[in-house]
Amino acid sequence: MAHRANAFIAVGDNPRSGEVRIVILGAGESGAGAAALAKKKGFDVFVSDLSTIKDKYKEILERYEIPYEEGQHTEEKILNANEIIKSPGIPDKAPIVKKIHGKNIPVISEIEFAGRYTNAKTICITGSNGKTTTTMLTYHILKSAGLNVGLAGNVGESFALQVAEQNYDYYVIELSSFQLDGMFDFRADIAVLLNITPDHLDRYNYEMQNYVNSKMRIIRNQTAADAFIFWNDDPIIQLRITNYELRITNDKLRNDKESCPTLYPFALTKGEDVIAYTEDKQLIIKTPKGNFNMEEELVALTGTHNLYNSLAAGIAAKLLDIKNEDIRRSLSDFKGVEHRLEKVAKVQGVEYINDSKATNVNSTWYALQSMKTPVVLILGGTDKGNDYGEIEALVKEKCRALIYLGVDNSKLHHFFDKTVAQTTEAHSMEEAVSKAYSIAEQGDTVLLSPCCASFDLFENYEDRGKQFKHCVRRL
Ligand code: ADP
Repeated sequence: MAHRANAFIAVGDNPRSGEVRIVILGAGESGAGAAALAKKKGFDVFVSDLSTIKDKYKEILERYEIPYEEGQHTEEKILNANEIIKSPGIPDKAPIVKKIHGKNIPVISEIEFAGRYTNAKTICITGSNGKTTTTMLTYHILKSAGLNVGLAGNVGESFALQVAEQNYDYYVIELSSFQLDGMFDFRADIAVLLNITPDHLDRYNYEMQNYVNSKMRIIRNQTAADAFIFWNDDPIIQLRITNYELRITNDKLRNDKESCPTLYPFALTKGEDVIAYTEDKQLIIKTPKGNFNMEEELVALTGTHNLYNSLAAGIAAKLLDIKNEDIRRSLSDFKGVEHRLEKVAKVQGVEYINDSKATNVNSTWYALQSMKTPVVLILGGTDKGNDYGEIEALVKEKCRALIYLGVDNSKLHHFFDKTVAQTTEAHSMEEAVSKAYSIAEQGDTVLLSPCCASFDLFENYEDRGKQFKHCVRRL
């Protein structure tokens, strides 16, 4: 829901800001950071969280002497706000948010708020899959090249807290669609859109179009001086580019060309308009700031999806004038991100890989596609309405066996039992790993890439991945 910010609040360090009340809903990473920044800028700040606030965030609130409440939302203290900063985790259908909308109080995200108080260049990364990997990789390239850069958004410390306490020249920011929903005047200097596949539709009235609209907000307010890096082969993004008439080709110049970002499309292979691609086992990037190339096999991250992520990060780095040798070094020595195709150990000739973050079918597709040996695949969990047809062919081609790890595995049995010769169930990670150990043959890979959320048996995907690693290390 688009609720625009009040222009008068947008003025930083306003002498009258003490008369302006900012209420922050949700005191997690983003909320605590936003509260600290708002307090520092002199606003009348109040924080309200329906759950218990973690000690780490209470400490921030207390350090900045910010009044807060937990375990409740006191309406009189919230509905008198001039502006609300809402945590991305709180849905629009939450009763308190409905009341806020009913009173037409502007609701923004922490990123929107913090963006008002920094002139740093922002590199903002979104997509359905690959955000964290690409954000960490881009940050790694910039930091290793010596830039004064912060890492923010869904990873690391909140953007707002860093704006309050640090003085970075650049920020690499991971943005979810929920954060984008609360952004209005914010402008990314470099926007990256990796892909759009169905996800979180429960938060978008089960309308894919709403989710797509949300992702496309990444280019809001961008002008020709700003860059839009995107995956050119994504049919949904492609359609939107055409609809927005963003495609600026020689014979199709828009009248208001200035109001469009400059496009930097990447794809797996060379094609019209594509400025970054792979050819003859090389990564190739061509930008007005110069060209870049690198042997594919020197890239640290494996799998086609990671070539995309590397191309996207590479384009951003080129646009920021990072030297080719620095980009090459960082792309080759990047350690990867925990729980994303993370190599755990090799036990008796069998490789164990933790891809616990693969919580949807699309990411498991990419994981399987990157496998070069027969696979014992551990999958299952909370099904978000998965269509396993998307991975059926790859499962058939690559999997020696499937181990269903979930409370209710009936859908998996129904779908895959006829496809793969050997299938079995497990109801704990220990059982899954021990079964995988007995099934796998020398030269195989045991891959945990569940396709599903983890909440039936685990606290979250991190817990699931950590348990996997723990069990593997005890083999
Ligand atoms: P996000 O932050 O968007 O959830 P991650 O980088 O954490 O993305 O990766 C999540 C999962 O998606 C991992 O299992 C990973 O292997 C897979 N993945 C990473 N990059 C891509 C991509 N560009 N396209 C599809 N899947 C990807």
